[in-house]
Amino acid sequence: MAGKTRCIDHPLIQHKLTQMRRKETPAAEFRRLLREIAMLMAFEVTREQKLVLAPIETPLTTMQAPVLAGRNLCFVSILRAGNGLLDGMLEIVPEARVGHIGIYRDPTTLAAVEYYCKLPPDIAEREVFLLDPMLATGHSAVAAVSRVKAAGAKSIRYVCLLAAPEGLAAMTADHPDITIYTAAIDSHLNDHGYIVPGLGDAGDRLFGTR
Ligand code: URA
Repeated sequence: MAGKTRCIDHPLIQHKLTQMRRKETPAAEFRRLLREIAMLMAFEVTREQKLVLAPIETPLTTMQAPVLAGRNLCFVSILRAGNGLLDGMLEIVPEARVGHIGIYRDPTTLAAVEYYCKLPPDIAEREVFLLDPMLATGHSAVAAVSRVKAAGAKSIRYVCLLAAPEGLAAMTADHPDITIYTAAIDSHLNDHGYIVPGLGDAGDRLFGTR
């Protein structure tokens, strides 16, 4: 496994991922499962967030109690499948700022083409979590990381559901500083750039567009 790759192999996540992989799982259930997995992954990907003590009053006394410190979080969804992970992450961290990057894969070359980008103006001050369920060739992931770095982001993590070895290698080569969180690392990519065994086209399955 690449140096900065973390596989989150919690049994609940693995069970839900298997339900998502089944080809007969309908869009509404697929969406619900991805949202639930994102909520579970949120625990792991925010594990290193710092806490500070703040004075509070309980009904009985005063105390110093832990609260999240310093920079706040920013979730950046890579459209459109990233929105499936975004929903669950926001459920757990509703205060987070949100950015969107629209990138599609040219079907012939599989190269990443950006068509939309809207990021919070203070992204440089925030802990950035890029969200896309499928890390396949890595072209979109590499482009998205470059985009947020160009916008000033310094602390960046990449969160996906499934990763292909090819995508992990591309990310490690171009952005060795980025930690990648995934629920599973699959076998390989097919000739069309799909992850095998995978779960198919995450965007189509989320939104019922095929
Ligand atoms: N994007 C998807 O939605 N699925 C894959 O298998 C690869 C990229």
